Amino acid sequence: MTHPVLSALGLGADESGTYLGNGEWSKTTDAGVLEPVNPTTGEVLGRVQASSQADYELIVERAQAAFKVWRTTPAPRRGEAIRLCADALRAHKDALGSLVALEMGKSKPEGDGEVQEMIDIGEFAVGLSRQLYGLTMHSERPGHRMYEQWHPIGLVGIISAFNFPVAVWAWNAFVAGVCGDICIWKPSPKTPLSAIASMKICNEALRKAGFPDIFFLFNDGGTELAQQFVDDRRIALVSFTGSTRVGRQVGERVARRMGRSLLELGGNNAIIVDETADLKLAIPAIVFGAVGTAGQRCTSTRRLFVHESIYDDVLGKLVAAYEQVGSRIGDPTDPANLMGPLNSRDAVDAYLEAVEKAKAAGGTIETGGAALTDRKGYFVLPTIVTGLSNDADIVQHETFAPILYVMKYRELDDAIAMQNAVPQGLSSAIFTTNLKRAEAFLAAWGSDCGIANVNIGTSGAEIGGAFGGEKETGGGRESGSDAWKAYMRRQTNTINYSDALPLAQGIKFDL
Ligand code: NAD
Repeated sequence: MTHPVLSALGLGADESGTYLGNGEWSKTTDAGVLEPVNPTTGEVLGRVQASSQADYELIVERAQAAFKVWRTTPAPRRGEAIRLCADALRAHKDALGSLVALEMGKSKPEGDGEVQEMIDIGEFAVGLSRQLYGLTMHSERPGHRMYEQWHPIGLVGIISAFNFPVAVWAWNAFVAGVCGDICIWKPSPKTPLSAIASMKICNEALRKAGFPDIFFLFNDGGTELAQQFVDDRRIALVSFTGSTRVGRQVGERVARRMGRSLLELGGNNAIIVDETADLKLAIPAIVFGAVGTAGQRCTSTRRLFVHESIYDDVLGKLVAAYEQVGSRIGDPTDPANLMGPLNSRDAVDAYLEAVEKAKAAGGTIETGGAALTDRKGYFVLPTIVTGLSNDADIVQHETFAPILYVMKYRELDDAIAMQNAVPQGLSSAIFTTNLKRAEAFLAAWGSDCGIANVNIGTSGAEIGGAFGGEKETGGGRESGSDAWKAYMRRQTNTINYSDALPLAQGIKFDL
């Protein structure tokens, strides 16, 4: 029987995973089947037919044809198309939010929040469609004008992770859409239904208004088509969100063909709590950052540095808060619960392995440290580990689960140095009421992350800023600010309206 959350969005128990354009979904049934699972129960939610090689080729051909039309469409008109997508998503927010919660395993408010993020970036993109500004420069030559303009880049490939199954697509697709690009999406095999539903909502709104197809979708049975996608010279930009392990391969392969990549990879995010911190803010921020979405956000808080003078107090308060969370773990769609499941059995195994490694390295489990075996689904206890140093192997590694390593410090410089001493560089935060320390944390010699916050935790970014991180987080930036530039190509133009041909740098070349 089809799950009612799927039926509410017009999805059946057996869906095509390939949108071919022209309102057509592929009829392929021999390229493998994806079976996304409800992580709360371990039950299969539905079947999704994977895409074939022929489907992929047809998508790229149609995307190339669509680009020829879309790049000539004025940007504000492209903005109108994205406005319709945002409106359609608003109308389906409740149903799509429920599907995201069901398939990924995040809470219903977080599922709805993800759809809200799609709407927000859609509205941002509408405004942006009238603000794709280039600069005008003063030429050094008389009778010359110089300026730059931004043109669409072409086909954008979007490969996304399971933990933000729809928002990451919208961050990319809505901004790329107003930039004049055509997007082809390969979502996570763990969350194909949320992707199919999003495509149906947006593409129907576009078709009804007579817009061309600008969004295509394929789902890969294994990783063969995804690898071909990465290597495909027709894909001008590959925007990849996922683990550092896969992102490194993607970045290398795209670079080999001299394509462009935008990489949004793993984080190992830390909060520093100094002795002046307002703990009424700090404690809930740490707990939400570490256990929210069961620790499955790229910005989840994984390390905590506490000033030695308040260490015992902070640790005691955290353990008490974790024990409250521990008694409210369950179906994430039930508002009484504070924490849902991990997304898969593999994630539970990775969590248990990390706990064992932490113990073997001399760590103490202050709370948690076990999977919940008294129920179906992939539930674990949120965990606090103390007694490890920042350079312990397991602390240096992103385990995509609710495990928090708590460490002490004496001098702020040492805390900042430890915070920075990991391979990743995504999100960071300090809780302090001391202005000098807050500014030191934000200074050029402070946090080395793409995101640095004061008196706010590491997770839960707004769409208005550019999102992304440094080092092994990949260096990409998406969403707000001027992140749109990644989806366009810059052209510098010099126009001579004089009767002479002066050369730059005063070079003489007299014939
Ligand atoms: P993952 O790397 O396992 O998969 C990501 C995507 O890559 C999936 O669509 C997968 O099918 C695809 N893929 C796998 N092998 C591939 C290959 N060889 N070539 C091309 N594509 C391939 O990641 P995940 O488990 O889905 O997501 C969790 C990870 O994503 C975490 O590390 C998290 O920090 C990161 N993440 C980062 C951000 C960010 O913005 N920085 C946001 C969300 C998630």
